[in-house]
Amino acid sequence: MLLANKTALITGASKGIGRAVALAFAKEGAQVILLARSMDLLEKLKSEIDASAVSKAIIFQADVRKYDELKKVFDELNQNKIYIDVLVNNAGIMKDAVIQMVQQQLIHDIYETNVFGTISASQLAVKSMLKKRGGSIINLTSIVGVHGNLGQSVYASSKSAVIGFTKSLSKELASLNIRVNAVAPGFIDTEMTQSMDQRFHEKNIQSIGMKRIGTPDDVARTILFLASDLSAYVTGQVIGVDGGMII
Ligand code: NAP
Repeated sequence: MLLANKTALITGASKGIGRAVALAFAKEGAQVILLARSMDLLEKLKSEIDASAVSKAIIFQADVRKYDELKKVFDELNQNKIYIDVLVNNAGIMKDAVIQMVQQQLIHDIYETNVFGTISASQLAVKSMLKKRGGSIINLTSIVGVHGNLGQSVYASSKSAVIGFTKSLSKELASLNIRVNAVAPGFIDTEMTQSMDQRFHEKNIQSIGMKRIGTPDDVARTILFLASDLSAYVTGQVIGVDGGMII
């Protein structure tokens, strides 16, 4: 199994890509620690994992925007001598608005979740990974964080910040045997995209070389590669998972 004896913490594990990552990791032998705000969804996922996987899932209700809540999770893990090998910074929100219509609250919500949440969780995880003498951090960015997109200046720039963070942190942590990479999905079938206008939906599919929307499992498999020792010499990279999408 690709993740035997590894412990992985996944933020935003209650649905979509994070949920698919949790299931893929558990299937490959990892002990998974799942974090999100929706405890009911986490409990359902835990039952699914516990029924079939090697280790029981551990779940935490926490909001990645709140440093104190994240710290409480890591403190509790440390007290129980549970140290992580893998962190997937997946929790994220997307809200579109042309710049004239962007509300201050929207800027705060997006940056606090997508950027501050990622930085805070990474900071706490590094301390844990040092106990394991290595680790892998995987950050969820987006194709729009690489190329930009109209109507998404706030969301896209938050995802560009995640790329900048990934590249700098990978340089800082390489000598400590902690790898840091980012995954940049294109258009993936989750609640985040299901809420989009149907016309945008069609237009987006037409812009994908493979002419289909991606599945959460398509993304989870790339994250699995980056979490496992198959990618032992890969760090500081941004890997697109977009079926050849052009924006
Ligand atoms: P999703 O279905 O909307 O799921 C988002 C997850 O993030 C949920 O589990 C949600 O859980 C969690 N979350 C949101 N805010 C949170 C907070 N403050 N604290 C803790 N957890 C929080 O979205 P998705 O499509 O799976 O997206 C996952 C990641 O991929 C995001 O970073 C997104 O930007 C990125 N991405 C997605 C696509 C796409 O096409 N879907 C494309 C590019 C990048 P709770 O609500 O329970 O807290």
